[in-house]
Amino acid sequence: MDESAEVVHQCPADGSGVTPCCARTPFELPRTDRMTTDSARITCNRNGPEEQR
Ligand SMILES: [Zn+2]
Repeated sequence: MDESAEVVHQCPADGSGVTPCCARTPFELPRTDRMTTDSARITCNRNGPEEQR
């Protein structure tokens, strides 16, 4: 894995404006981050923002 790569977030569900993974709108996410509907590709920390590894 490339640690410098973008974070992948889950796309907001229908009727929701925020990502299920971190409860942010796509506009709040860093522009380098990406979104997907494939849960296997999500790398976002679901429990909070910017946790250290
Ligand atoms: Zn996220």
